[in-house]
Amino acid sequence: MTPNPPDATDLVSRTLDALTPRLLGWYARNARNLPWRRTRDPYAIWISEIMLQQTQVKTVVPYYQAWMRQFPTVDDLAEAPPARVLKLWAGLGYYQRARSLHSAARFIRSRLRGSFPDNLPGVLALPGVGRYTAGAICSIAYNQPTPILDGNIMRVLTRLFAIPGDPRAKPVNDRLWLIAECWVRIAASLRIGRSRLCASLNQALMELGALICTPRNPRCSDCPLQPDCQAARTGHPASFPQTAPRPTASARSFTVFVVRHNSDFLVQRQPRTAWNAGLWGFPSLEHGPKPPAPAELFRRCFKSSAARLEPLGQIRHSITRYRLLLTVYGAVVESRPRARKDHERWCNPDALQKLAFSAAHRKILRLARILPEQTDFRKAIRKS
Ligand code: SF4
Repeated sequence: MTPNPPDATDLVSRTLDALTPRLLGWYARNARNLPWRRTRDPYAIWISEIMLQQTQVKTVVPYYQAWMRQFPTVDDLAEAPPARVLKLWAGLGYYQRARSLHSAARFIRSRLRGSFPDNLPGVLALPGVGRYTAGAICSIAYNQPTPILDGNIMRVLTRLFAIPGDPRAKPVNDRLWLIAECWVRIAASLRIGRSRLCASLNQALMELGALICTPRNPRCSDCPLQPDCQAARTGHPASFPQTAPRPTASARSFTVFVVRHNSDFLVQRQPRTAWNAGLWGFPSLEHGPKPPAPAELFRRCFKSSAARLEPLGQIRHSITRYRLLLTVYGAVVESRPRARKDHERWCNPDALQKLAFSAAHRKILRLARILPEQTDFRKAIRKS
């Protein structure tokens, strides 16, 4: 018998009942062969789900593979020093995710004797794990009927039932969670010769949102839900979801100095309070859109002058609600400004590569051609 959550209407339940075999069949034929889909290890699924937050699949794949090679078990992660964890995450952004993974692994080792929890409340109790991630781990690893609701699934559900309103606003969001729960419970109740239907149902919804029911130009003619989709019937499926516009990103400008003395470069580690805490970068100064001359900024930064200062270029980088403009200068100094203990270091190019840089400062490493095979800037400053 199909379970019926309290306020899911009969119409919704009947629609989901009819659509479930079609959706599962579509997923069986179309699921991408992704590395985290070849395992039922809850630790591996947890890592993949956290990496996939705010990040595209093609970006995540090499990070996931490198991570699982370095930290194949939760114990390996718990034992790793924080710098090694951040280094492996460098470039993925939203670094709090890496820090939360690390503290959750240590929590599992110290409080749960190294055993990954196998139920929803236990997974939800891990640091940094919310309702979506806990539902994904329990359904995919343990085939439990736990619902999930991410951006892809919100889009599919709001279109399927032409649900008006912002899907992140509480009343609409609550309704979507109920529909997601109803659907995964329907999958759990089916006996159609397939196993692990909760895992398949949730992944099918995510996959449909990623491949077919895309934000713009959904491919309704290829969609298994199309015969029952109310938004498709309107002829304007992309008019759902009615997401509230995000606040516009504000612009911030920085001057960055790639300071070299002999073969070493000066780098700084971000303090604990910064959004990219623990990551390394080149010294920088924030200013308005019309900054003072670079020599003046250099003096303000280091209380001394550079023997040579040359423009290397500009980098644009977006993070959360900021659009950053970084104007980068290469500077050669004849004596080293004293490195402040702990958070500053002089490093040669080989040592730089062992540090975890934020994505913006990785772009600067490339711009300044500090990587060993890219020596233009190094040649230029060697000649100085
Ligand atoms: Fe999305 Fe179109 Fe499928 Fe409806 S029919 S769920 S709008 S792809």
